[in-house]
Amino acid sequence: MRTIINVSNRLPVTFKNGAFTKSSGGLISAMDGLGSRVNLQWIGWPGGRIESASRQKSIATELRDTYHYIPVFLDETEIENYYDGFSNSSLWPLLHYLLPYSRNEERWYRSYHLVNQKFSRLVLEAIEKSPDHPLVWIHDYHLMLLPAMLREKIPDLRIGFFLHTPFPNFEIFRCHPNRQTLLEGLLGADQIGFHTFGYLNHFRHTLLGILGKASEMDRIDNKSHSTALGVYPIGINIDSFKREMQTGSYRRYLNQYQIAYQGKKVVLSVERLDYTKGILRRLDAIELYLKETPEPKNTIFIFICVPSRKSVWEYQTLIHKVEVKISQINGKYSTIMDIPILFMNQSVSFSELCALYSFADVALVTPLHDGMNLVAKEYLACQTQKSGVLILSELAGAAQELSHAIIVNPYDIHGVARSIREALSLAGTERKRMLAPMRTRVIKYNAVYWAESFLSQLAEKKDSDALKKMNTRISSVMERLVSAPGKQAWFLDYDGTISDLKQYPSDAAPDEEITTLFHSLSSLAHLDIYLISGRKKEDMEQWFSPFRFHLIAEHGYFIKKYNNADWEQMGTEGEMGWKQSVMDIFNPYALTTPGSSVEEKTTSVVWHYRRTDSEFGTWKAHQLLNELYSTLSNLPVEIRHGHKIVEVSSVLINKGLAMQRFLADNEYQYVLCAGDDETDENMFKVAADNIQSFKIGKGQTSARNQIASPKAFRHFLTETAKKMQEK
Ligand code: UDP
Repeated sequence: MRTIINVSNRLPVTFKNGAFTKSSGGLISAMDGLGSRVNLQWIGWPGGRIESASRQKSIATELRDTYHYIPVFLDETEIENYYDGFSNSSLWPLLHYLLPYSRNEERWYRSYHLVNQKFSRLVLEAIEKSPDHPLVWIHDYHLMLLPAMLREKIPDLRIGFFLHTPFPNFEIFRCHPNRQTLLEGLLGADQIGFHTFGYLNHFRHTLLGILGKASEMDRIDNKSHSTALGVYPIGINIDSFKREMQTGSYRRYLNQYQIAYQGKKVVLSVERLDYTKGILRRLDAIELYLKETPEPKNTIFIFICVPSRKSVWEYQTLIHKVEVKISQINGKYSTIMDIPILFMNQSVSFSELCALYSFADVALVTPLHDGMNLVAKEYLACQTQKSGVLILSELAGAAQELSHAIIVNPYDIHGVARSIREALSLAGTERKRMLAPMRTRVIKYNAVYWAESFLSQLAEKKDSDALKKMNTRISSVMERLVSAPGKQAWFLDYDGTISDLKQYPSDAAPDEEITTLFHSLSSLAHLDIYLISGRKKEDMEQWFSPFRFHLIAEHGYFIKKYNNADWEQMGTEGEMGWKQSVMDIFNPYALTTPGSSVEEKTTSVVWHYRRTDSEFGTWKAHQLLNELYSTLSNLPVEIRHGHKIVEVSSVLINKGLAMQRFLADNEYQYVLCAGDDETDENMFKVAADNIQSFKIGKGQTSARNQIASPKAFRHFLTETAKKMQEK
């Protein structure tokens, strides 16, 4: 049975007046639904302030023994700065596009960092006590720094992160003062889940815009690990609704409502009293509806607004505005017999909630932005009686799944008023046709399905298994290199092979680790090292002349033996006459694709688009490739679509030909060649029993061996050199 350490700001219990009460909600029911299949531990804040150490100790013992929960206690300043401040007054509004509500204080961030560290310490303690290798699943915006904190301490820990709110677009997220550390914190995870593809895509664009990190649709590679990106829309605890609707208490409420609201249509809104829920705009729309509908009196609008975050100023002013607006509408449109809006600023019991969901003719769910919105799904789950109609904001994550609802723009109050009228006048057959597919979906893709799919992806060990196999093979290659007698030649590409790929090529100068490695390789007299690169000769000379290496620049066009002062040229300038026509094709692309540039080398021309908007850059690259294929077919060139580059290079020069030239001129007993991209494949295709080839990174290759990253390859070279020295 696998251990899952679930980490969220709040524990599923609240400590109040000396006792615990169990809370409800999507996440809690999802985790409950995993039942005895997993050993679940939960780390979070039990709410409130418990400051005496002995009290904390006894509560921690009780929570551990009764529920397997580990409490994180927050003091008064932490509640003020980490929770009310950074989480709820800075991040929450920003993530929901409400930038004017987002405030920042430096002390809030300091506290956020400290509380994330506090969580980190407790997670590490729990891991230490765990009998197996647990999965850690972190939830939501309160804990965005935690994944990287844990990764730093335990590099091979499996860490998942799920964001329950929207992820806004780059233009919004870039406004946050701590944007960089927040993103870096998240990238500590192995897997990040979002409710919708839109949020995932915003996240990718933001990574590119702020960290300059390009990503695949479903993955981003970091130095030490890759982070999978996925869409997992959360569902509801369907069983608890089904169970509740069998109870006497539910039936009693339903009967009462049937009597009290006989002959009336009920339009229901349920939410926390939060400015993201669009309550004021909705009231404007209702006012319009009442004004424009000749006989509105048979309709009642019920608002269940659960009090929320009352210590935050914006929430205090919101309740005031809502109350004023409702009394204005009621004042204007009430009669002695009817009040149009019934407003409750309190929560209702679960039986009442289910009965209301069942009884309401229409659910009016119009948040301005909402990660998912479970109320919409819960309403559908309880609609076993009437075939009710769901009016749903297009800016709620749920709208991506519930396309048979009446979808509205919550900012368009005229549109919302029209949709209320439409919903109330729909015929029964039409309502049934709309409801059925949505109910099927909500029942099937419930909370348990959500948790299982996230966790099973996180637990997949494919990568590490494949790596294990690869490692066994690679150690036998190492043994062969170490034990081979006589002289050896090693042809090593540099960028992406020895050095990690950097955003700017000039950032890849050898650091301390690479310098040490190069010195130890230089000291091995039986090795001839050829550093073979697409880089210009000036770059190579500047960085690599301190080592006993032969340098091969521009894929083999220039070579410099380590004991020669000058570079030799392997071709003639005349063979490169095609370059001008390629430049003429490339230049307009550089102009119309911001962030891209053209680089002219001696034997090739390259269009770089790593720093462009990734979607736009990729689209332009395909256009460029089409144009190149149709215009350059008669020239002695090769067209290559590499990692964020399009390159046109001479077919008369390549790394494979350069390598063969040196092999023909020398007597080597053993040869190693290594590289990370398509230009290196020409080396890998030079086959012989005494040649070992290495592809660094993922992807199709002709190389005999594959190794995960430059870091792993550096480790391989360091170890091999060490063994050779010891021999
Ligand atoms: N809810 C509740 N008590 C109430 C009214 C609503 O517990 O009196 C629950 C409701 O059943 C739903 C949750 O509050 O599960 C609201 O979740 P949603 O995703 O709609 O919005 P959030 O509050 O997470 O922003």
